Amino acid sequence: MNLGPTAGWGLALDHNRIEVDPATCAPNRAGLYAIGDIAHYPGKLKLILTGFTEAAMAMRAIYPLVYPERELHFEYSTATGVVGLP
Ligand SMILES: Cc1cc2nc3c(=O)[nH]c(=O)nc-3n(C[C@H](O)[C@H](O)[C@H](O)COP(=O)(O)OP(=O)(O)OC[C@H]3O[C@@H](n4cnc5c(N)ncnc54)[C@H](O)[C@@H]3O)c2cc1C
Repeated sequence: MNLGPTAGWGLALDHNRIEVDPATCAPNRAGLYAIGDIAHYPGKLKLILTGFTEAAMAMRAIYPLVYPERELHFEYSTATGVVGLP
């Protein structure tokens, strides 16, 4: 892991990893998000599965920023179907 220019953005770090709120994956700077191995919080497991979960958590937090006029409906693709599949 190499933070590159991000190292100069004033983010709270723990051993070169970005400290985030695990509920949103947001660090200490508004509008930024970190997921995967670079993101850190107590109990973090550096696994592929964790990164996928954090992607969903971050997307849920980001959605209202991108679409402030829309309401987010949590749905299971197994229950609602996938467009193009029977
Ligand atoms: C030996 C080993 C075995 C593992 N086995 C398993 C396993 O069996 N099961 C499992 O779930 N997990 C396993 N893991 C953990 C898993 O690989 C990681 O959790 C996962 O790859 C993290 O994904 P990521 O996208 O967050 O980071 P990465 O996969 O590390 O991707 C980060 C990318 O960012 C690039 N990058 C870095 N710095 C910069 C920069 N400054 N600018 C631009 N790009 C940059 C890197 O080149 C890399 O391509 C293993 C890890 C290791 C090391």
